[in-house]
Amino acid sequence: MEDLLRKEAEGILKKAEAIASELGADISTTVRKGDPATEIVDCSLTEGCNLIVAGKTGKTGLAKALLGSTSYKLLAGSSVDVLIVPKAASFKLENLLVPTDGSGSAQRAGYKAIDLAKVFSAKLNLLSVVEVEPIAFESEVPQLMETLEKFVESQRKALASAQETLAKKCELEGISCFSSIEDGVPHEKIIEFSAKKDIDLIVMGSYGKSGIKKFILGSVTEKVVGLSEVPVLVVKS
Ligand code: ATP
Ligand code: MN
Repeated sequence: MEDLLRKEAEGILKKAEAIASELGADISTTVRKGDPATEIVDCSLTEGCNLIVAGKTGKTGLAKALLGSTSYKLLAGSSVDVLIVPKAASFKLENLLVPTDGSGSAQRAGYKAIDLAKVFSAKLNLLSVVEVEPIAFESEVPQLMETLEKFVESQRKALASAQETLAKKCELEGISCFSSIEDGVPHEKIIEFSAKKDIDLIVMGSYGKSGIKKFILGSVTEKVVGLSEVPVLVVKS
């Protein structure tokens, strides 16, 4: 059984080698045995890779929102950036989306996107989503409403200033940059924006405001990677 699986893996790699040599690209291949995500992360370290590129198969219905366990473990466990490419995605880099919650992780992803935009002469879109709580109990507790409104306003200000930092850097680098702030559920707005604005690549942090101590992979990133029809570059820092 193990022999058969190894033969199959070697067959796949032979095809990859043929494609690479046709394109004149350098390639080295390895077959390993074990848990896929663990082996991929380990291989990236021993080979000194600075990016892991992984595919995502198109699932249907509800399962689409959920990442496969290998993808999840890969994104959580990798110490280098991970590019997840959906099955049907074409690879064009003209119009990039950077969703930022103002966290260090998101801002670092923003700077990386600016580097990419420079190389590919791409345009940058900054999107921040203000998480507005459901206002069902509006009339009942007016003081609570006031506190919530103040909180939402301070969120909006912090997001605008995080965007401004990135927009200034774009201006310095001569990159065209479009900023927007929307109210709603972050992953929904990010996916909507990506479709509406014909985005080619989403560049985002692996975690955000809740921070790395709490989660190794943030829930917004997990959902965006699961739902996106365009490639997502998850920046690890
Ligand atoms: P969680 O929110 O699951 O408690 P977290 O805050 O650490 O954990 P995420 O919210 O998933 O992690 O953040 C990961 C990335 O998602 C951020 O680096 C940023 O790129 C993007 N993101 C998160 N929240 C927003 C938001 N409100 N608006 C725009 N982008 C966001
Ligand atoms: Mn968050």
